[in-house]
Amino acid sequence: KKSSLTEVKVAVIGAPGVGKSETRYKHEVLVDGEPVLYEILDTCPKNEDDLPSSEIINWADGLLFVYSITNRRSFTFLKRVGTLIADSDIPVYIVGNKNDMVHLREVSAEEGAMLARDFECGFSEVAAAEQVAPVAVVFQEICRAVLAARRK
Ligand code: GDP
Ligand code: MG
Repeated sequence: KKSSLTEVKVAVIGAPGVGKSETRYKHEVLVDGEPVLYEILDTCPKNEDDLPSSEIINWADGLLFVYSITNRRSFTFLKRVGTLIADSDIPVYIVGNKNDMVHLREVSAEEGAMLARDFECGFSEVAAAEQVAPVAVVFQEICRAVLAARRK
């Protein structure tokens, strides 16, 4: 029997050490009342020059861009990834992680919001290692963006 569940594939993109693996990957989420099954690809670049491959970008329905607010290079990494998808309209959502570490902040929330304006996407800061609910919201938001793009 064919599943009636909507499926969304999300690639989590970010420099090493930003906290990608720390996200509590739930595999089912309600998006505006609709159950969505999402599959996550946690990409593991070995160094900061390692941009995601076109296979990853082509596989994904949506991209979750993660940087650490305590690491400016991880923010710059996402700007470089952005040039890879400049000609594509794949939905993106940007996450500034580790906002429990404001004393070590290198990237302001305003800069994160500005990058989100460039990508015309959503943005929020979270502490993935500490908060489950805000991370769940992030996955809801990227799924919502993918579903909205499919309706177009
Ligand atoms: P990845 O390379 O992006 O997969 O990063 P990891 O998930 O392995 O996390 C790298 C380090 O950052 C680990 O030591 C995590 O415990 C830590 N980390 C992840 N999320 C947070 C967070 O929200 N706050 C703090 N303070 N540390 C975090
Ligand atoms: Mg990892």
